[in-house]
Amino acid sequence: MKAIQIVKPGELRVIDMEKPSLDAENNVLVKIRASGICGSDVGIYHGTNAAATYPRVIGHEIVGEVAEVGPGVTTRKPGDRVIIDQVTACGKCYACRKGRPNVCQHLAVRGVHIDGGYREYMAVPEKDCYTLPDFLEYKDAVMIEPTTIAVQCCSRAQLESDDDVLIIGAGALGSSLLRIVKLFRPHSIIMADIDQPKLDEALKNGATAVINSKNEDLVARAKELTGGYGPTVTIDAACVKGSLLSACQAAGNATRVMTMGFSVAPDEINQFVITSKELDIRGSRLQNRKFGEVIRLVNEGKVELRGTVSHTFPFLEAQKAFDFVDSRDPSIRKISLIFD
Ligand code: MN
Repeated sequence: MKAIQIVKPGELRVIDMEKPSLDAENNVLVKIRASGICGSDVGIYHGTNAAATYPRVIGHEIVGEVAEVGPGVTTRKPGDRVIIDQVTACGKCYACRKGRPNVCQHLAVRGVHIDGGYREYMAVPEKDCYTLPDFLEYKDAVMIEPTTIAVQCCSRAQLESDDDVLIIGAGALGSSLLRIVKLFRPHSIIMADIDQPKLDEALKNGATAVINSKNEDLVARAKELTGGYGPTVTIDAACVKGSLLSACQAAGNATRVMTMGFSVAPDEINQFVITSKELDIRGSRLQNRKFGEVIRLVNEGKVELRGTVSHTFPFLEAQKAFDFVDSRDPSIRKISLIFD
């Protein structure tokens, strides 16, 4: 079978790989039908993802059709349309024992630390497969995974209806956060970015106020929009130099600041801004078994995933797709690689 491998940073290749066979653990064979291109896949291609190892078959937004099941499999049958959980964990370390396998000490993420979904077939444990909503095409179903990332962040933030939420960054991550944050019906949702068209879109999609931090003072404006107190949940979805400090400065006393970035570049932060307000700074990584919840929200019509995928490419033309991403064409929202 064919697969797309990042041999080393900057080098993408179509390779031949042995079709996986079933064993006691990986007892469901999935014929991949679509895989999304995520910012982190692009990072692995460019060598800017600190977590990745090479060579690697990338892709962690993986949907397909069950082709074969092993003996003893009861919850899956050939023909089932599924999405595959990207997280694999040891089940024994402290994080796993605390029910947090997404930060397992021996975490292996499909498409990052172990081979992922840019290939024709994958063999996975049945517990890692989740049934897709019937009405959702494969190309759109890849959006379930980025949505789980947003659900994870809201869960880590213990978001409630009396919260004033500030989301810094209105790109792909920020807009998928907005989609989930608004389901909690918080008191307010403020979005900040330096790109006005993205902010206009955020307003259309349910943000209650926006801050263009290119020409407005982010911290002062966030305070003003929250009656002087500051947001009670501040999410750094921009993850750029200075964004964490701004988030902490904007945040109100006794509130939560969420980080989602993976940059290893040193950034300025001081203890005063954290200690004086007793901020809880919490990381949110990947997702902890959130697929079921997102699929339920989609089935109930509370989350619309159709309309976000802007482009599709046949998976063997992955190089073209990644070049297109690099062109930073403004029409790009989400790209799905399609398999026949
Ligand atoms: Mn992703």
